[in-house]
Amino acid sequence: MKAVDLLPFCAKYGSRMLLQQPFTVGERTYATDARVLVRVNRIAGVYLVNVTNSGWNAIKFQACLAMVAPLPTDIAVALPDAIPEVLEACDVCDGNGLRNGEPCPNCEGAGHFEQHHPIDVGGTSYAGYHLRRLAALPDLAFYPRHGTDEPAYFTFTRGDGILMPL
Ligand SMILES: [Zn+2]
Repeated sequence: MKAVDLLPFCAKYGSRMLLQQPFTVGERTYATDARVLVRVNRIAGVYLVNVTNSGWNAIKFQACLAMVAPLPTDIAVALPDAIPEVLEACDVCDGNGLRNGEPCPNCEGAGHFEQHHPIDVGGTSYAGYHLRRLAALPDLAFYPRHGTDEPAYFTFTRGDGILMPL
């Protein structure tokens, strides 16, 4: 079975350097950009975090893990069939992806960023940016939390995670 690609769920260049790669704690491997968190069974070779020390990183990671406590899985709501990609031009390279003849460091040469525009799922708004990535997960079941600021919970083949509402 093909492993789930965790990189789309990591923080992007220029933000939260600590979260730009997946990391392993105990028997699970995680990816998060601080809005979405995805976890799967441990992937060998992924950076291992020692959460038993008291360093700053360990404290941050502990906070992430505490959020994936068991959450309600009562009513799964299907994501919309087509979630549009809404792009915004990079203002460092004016959308052409190049800076001094090299790939633009701000947008990694893409020339644009995907906006976090709101999409309603089960009465709560989530970023289309994140929903489009979740929709690619195998056998996704998404459990919105209507009427709270709490994260939605989701499961997929061999993994689960949480997504903050907008
Ligand atoms: Zn750029």
